Amino acid sequence: MKRTYLLLLFTLFITISATAQQATYEIPNRSINSNTLKTDGLIQPHLDEFLKLCKKYDIDYTEKLFKLKEIAIVDSLEVTPKGGTLGMLVRDDQHQVEKIIFSWMTLLDSEILKVVAYHEFGHYFLGYKHVCDDCNKIMAKVNSSYFDIAKDWDYHVENLFINSPEYLKKQGLAQN
Ligand SMILES: [Zn+2]
Repeated sequence: MKRTYLLLLFTLFITISATAQQATYEIPNRSINSNTLKTDGLIQPHLDEFLKLCKKYDIDYTEKLFKLKEIAIVDSLEVTPKGGTLGMLVRDDQHQVEKIIFSWMTLLDSEILKVVAYHEFGHYFLGYKHVCDDCNKIMAKVNSSYFDIAKDWDYHVENLFINSPEYLKKQGLAQN
């Protein structure tokens, strides 16, 4: 009886450790002092969801996620009377993306934050450049229509993935 109980406890412990590890995106363990990705709590759910979609569309994100140091909401992005930069990729001296930053202005509306988050993740994880200046797509240079996109969210997300450079590259490889 006692033995069964211990075994049960042990199993439980293993399960909990496995769950805890999953939260770090199944990144292989690195040496001590490795840089772990710091992500703003408000963006974390969008990142989690986005990476789930990467998995669904078979887009490998591990290496890129590995290289990223921080995803943050900042108050240092330019604001002009016409609007401002809502999000951007920050590169290091070697031109490698090390951070993704979002303007505090994205916090004014949860739909805006979501669209801008997917836009920046689209640049980074899906290999996108802008697809147009203002065309009611997630990867438009300027989005004057966040709410239209948010209204048809699933449609826009599916399009974002199946038309992405990374996805098409994979498809091309698969056909050859
Ligand atoms: Zn952009």
